[in-house]
Amino acid sequence: PSPQSNSSCKIMAMTTLLIHNAHTIATLNDAGDELSNASIYVRNNCIEAIGPAHALPSTADRVINAEHHVVIPGMVNTHHHMSQSLTRAIPGVQNAELFSWLRGLYPIWAGLQPDMIHASTQTAMAELLLSGCTTSSDHLYIYPNGVKLDDCIHAAREIGMRFVATRGSMSVGQSKGGLPPDRVVEQEDAILKDTQRLITQFHDASHGAMTQVAVAPCSPFSVSQDLMRLSAEMARHYGVRLHTHLAENDHDIAYSLEKFNRTPTQYAEDLGWLGDDVWHAHCVKLDDEGISLFAATRTGIAHCPCSNMRLASGIAPIRKMIEAGVPVGLGVDGSASNDAAHMLNEARQAMLLARLRKSLETPQVSSDGRTVYGCDTAPMEMTARDALRLATRGGAEVLGRKDIGQLSVGYCADMALFDLRSLSFAGGAVHDAIGSLMLCASAPASYTIVNGRVVVSEGQLATLDLGRVIERHNQFAKQLALGH
Ligand code: ZN
Repeated sequence: PSPQSNSSCKIMAMTTLLIHNAHTIATLNDAGDELSNASIYVRNNCIEAIGPAHALPSTADRVINAEHHVVIPGMVNTHHHMSQSLTRAIPGVQNAELFSWLRGLYPIWAGLQPDMIHASTQTAMAELLLSGCTTSSDHLYIYPNGVKLDDCIHAAREIGMRFVATRGSMSVGQSKGGLPPDRVVEQEDAILKDTQRLITQFHDASHGAMTQVAVAPCSPFSVSQDLMRLSAEMARHYGVRLHTHLAENDHDIAYSLEKFNRTPTQYAEDLGWLGDDVWHAHCVKLDDEGISLFAATRTGIAHCPCSNMRLASGIAPIRKMIEAGVPVGLGVDGSASNDAAHMLNEARQAMLLARLRKSLETPQVSSDGRTVYGCDTAPMEMTARDALRLATRGGAEVLGRKDIGQLSVGYCADMALFDLRSLSFAGGAVHDAIGSLMLCASAPASYTIVNGRVVVSEGQLATLDLGRVIERHNQFAKQLALGH
């Protein structure tokens, strides 16, 4: 390939990075190219060339020898609550479903402080980066004690992760029929004013943006319909995206039918919450009408398989959604309902859970009681490559990004390298390096590159002292639980 110049590449210090002679590159480009003995040449924050190693330059300011590595586009996490890293594995809610899980945690989260938000965001981002994720959204919807979304944005800039910060909110407390206690909800005019401030202060709509802001009232059971409507109007005025939780489990559906006399999809439609600038988390219980409407309007879904299993919410009909044309990405969801923010593992779980759903829907025994042999010739519900696609291009689409999610010239230099000599890949990568990423145990990334910057190098976080980050985080986690 001939290196093309790309005017949208941002000029910083002129630096070049070469990923040299990779064992395998999964480009996730439109043609689905998988390359062997190939290189990627990066100038500043953009991919300038990709192709056979012998056809690309052999030197650069920094060269990473990738002959034993599989290279994938940096994965994109579309749903998270990073502050929940402070409340993982809390004994009282280890076995609870969504609503009682939330009721148990709201009083603890009421004690969150600004420096706790900063510490937990860095912990969550470190975990994601070390798993090969380069872009994450976060949904912070609780703002006690002077907490601001700014605390997350500063943390992201320090660690070097591409970030879509969503201004969550709760405004309907228990006294008004909502789920959260009154002391953790905010006034709606204050929510809207702060959201407007954040968009004007931080949102970057340009190619290669490292910080974006989206508008994200929390859920049907914690905000008013007025706030949903006004949020949609504000987001469209500023050209930013909308995000919320929808149709997460049976209780969520029951609440919607009882309080609004509408299904979650009808509720979203009435309030202006369908469109190619909207993405909803979960949608485990989306009905066929909902899937059709989401597809017709290009409304996106953040599929969170681990969380859906952890809270026993159900199995989202992902294959049906994809076939209908719904944009689908993956989300690790909050760290109190996963409780592991390993993006590669999330993709693996999406693949496994889709297969489980298929087995539940398609009996292996026919109605006359005979075993149906030969089912394995039918296409699998979700292949390893399908799962990789959801984790990369799928997430980019859900976040409305045209500059990430694949390894092509002009795209941001966001990628992850996995060492095929490691134990997870033993006996697998020799047959299929890309398939092994999903089918073998989820390995840590050896290198994670965000916007042309090597943020994880030789398996270590390069931008912050991880030991110090974890120590500070654990002190805050104890303090938060004790203060409750
Ligand atoms: Zn969530």
